[in-house]
Amino acid sequence: MPQSTKYVPTDKEQAFHSTVEDIAHKREIINGLAPFFKESAPDDLMGLYSSDELVQLSVLNKTDRDVESRMPVKITRHFAELARTSPAIQKLVKASPDETLDLAGSEDPGNQMDYSPVEGLLHKYEMGLMYVVSTCSAHCRFCYREELIARKEIARADGTVAKKGLAKIPEIVGYIHEFNNAVATNGGRHPVCGREKLREILLSGGDPMVLNNAKLAAWFSALAEAGIESIRVGTKEMAFYPKRFDETFFAMLDAFHEAYPEVGVHFMVHFEHPDEFLAKGDDGEYLRDDKGFFTWVPDTGKAMRNLLERGWITVENQTPIIKDINNDPDALRIMQREMKRVGADNHYFFCGRDIVAYKAFNIPIEESWRILNESQKGLSGVENHARLSITHYKGKTEVCAVTSEPIPGLAGSENGVVIFKLLRNAAQAPDRGKVCIVGRNPDAAWFDDYEDRVLFDEAGLFDYSRVKEVAAESE
Ligand code: SF4
Repeated sequence: MPQSTKYVPTDKEQAFHSTVEDIAHKREIINGLAPFFKESAPDDLMGLYSSDELVQLSVLNKTDRDVESRMPVKITRHFAELARTSPAIQKLVKASPDETLDLAGSEDPGNQMDYSPVEGLLHKYEMGLMYVVSTCSAHCRFCYREELIARKEIARADGTVAKKGLAKIPEIVGYIHEFNNAVATNGGRHPVCGREKLREILLSGGDPMVLNNAKLAAWFSALAEAGIESIRVGTKEMAFYPKRFDETFFAMLDAFHEAYPEVGVHFMVHFEHPDEFLAKGDDGEYLRDDKGFFTWVPDTGKAMRNLLERGWITVENQTPIIKDINNDPDALRIMQREMKRVGADNHYFFCGRDIVAYKAFNIPIEESWRILNESQKGLSGVENHARLSITHYKGKTEVCAVTSEPIPGLAGSENGVVIFKLLRNAAQAPDRGKVCIVGRNPDAAWFDDYEDRVLFDEAGLFDYSRVKEVAAESE
């Protein structure tokens, strides 16, 4: 592992950094449930929780069903105001006693830590995902990173137990150089793991957009200097606090592009529901202009326009399908149409992961497929690009099809089948495209619910030995 040394920016980086400005942001965040319990939250936002809800939540406070120990509670004024007229947004961000009824699930969904060669970096495929911060401006109750945000201790493959750490520039840059040098001197593949160059980095967390411009600029330029070809920013800030996309932020992006025009910049935004970006009238209906076009929440529309008008930036939306938030084909249809209309792409919809308390949020895999398929009926070819993905321990897997009819002559397919396709294998690119077919189980929320009905598995999805090893050790 690369040793930690101080990172010294190049002259070119320093010249870029010297142009960066920051302004103070007033997100007006309410942190935790205490301001609601103590009635110290702003008067106009106290109504987010009813008195009955606060009583139920306070009873659980500091017990083993404490909702805040599972996932810290946090909301911005902007999002709380949108929540007033939106049951979906309320469900997304309001703590509920139901969350801790059943705490089954994994503290490290997808065995992420198996792919962490350096603290704060997950290296899969040709890309790396970095935890650059451990919070967001608000917190989604279903968050897939609850263990990071709640600073929980995680068991790793080597037997150690520790909180997930954050990425630091010296270690990450050192690792990129070391890995890519080994790839370059070995004919294009790493001599040990066989992977290609690490060429793409996703800034994640938590939400990188809670960092100031100076910190983002430091990451951007250090990655560019290390030879990273594409930088992605995974963010929900456009929903939580769109004013963060201010003039100083765009000036920083423009200066970065001027200094490093060869580096791709991609924003992976995260809207679950159109209520997060479409303006509503007093009657709760979406506002339309005189031609019938939907009207966006002004600050969100401005942030999206300002990103998209820079032709060198791409914007893609991705979201899980979550119970009582967006398991609604009509809402998803509007969202996909609007994203494409303004110029953003629809990337992935995700089946819920096996996070702690997943039963409070996840809907069955086959139901997710039905909802997405329904939502795409009537969408044009450019609007319906999104795929339904489920993150298997082996890698990202598409739920390609769910049939209702048996396959003639195939025992086990009497109720129809589900066809999975491995989109990316976290370790080995050649496995891409391999398929797995299972008999249907309408209640299945995770792969283990199909274990007894595997019909064909060239993808090896049901050979997850790490899980079996861990289970055997704990018996
Ligand atoms: S924005 Fe993403 S990382 Fe932040 S709380 Fe929501 S799901 Fe978790």
